[in-house]
Amino acid sequence: MENIFDNKPERLCLHCKKCGNDEGFIKDFYEKPPEGCGYEGWFFLEWEKYKQNIRKLKERLLVLEVQLKNCKDSKKATKIASDIQKTKDKIKGFNSIGPTDL
Ligand SMILES: [Zn+2]
Repeated sequence: MENIFDNKPERLCLHCKKCGNDEGFIKDFYEKPPEGCGYEGWFFLEWEKYKQNIRKLKERLLVLEVQLKNCKDSKKATKIASDIQKTKDKIKGFNSIGPTDL
C-alpha cells in the first residue's frame, strides 16, 4: 500500500521548532504535528482523506455482510465471503499508518 508519509511535502514547516526536520517526523496518523506547525494543514487534509477511505471500506464490509446473510447460493456466498476477507485485510493494512477503529 502506498504510504502518503513517504511522499509528504518537504519543508512545509521551518518555523515551529518543535517538529524538527528529521526523517522520522510525522510518519503516521498516530501522532499529530505540534500546534502551530506548518504541517498541520497538510496533515488535517490527509487525515480527512484517510478517514474517508476507512469509512468507505467499512461501509462496503457492512453491505457485503448483509449480502452474505441473505445469500442462498453457496457459490455466491463463497465469493462474498472472500470479498469480506479481502476488505478486512485492506482495513487491517491501514493499521501501519493509523488507527482503524474510527
Ligand atoms: Zn513544525
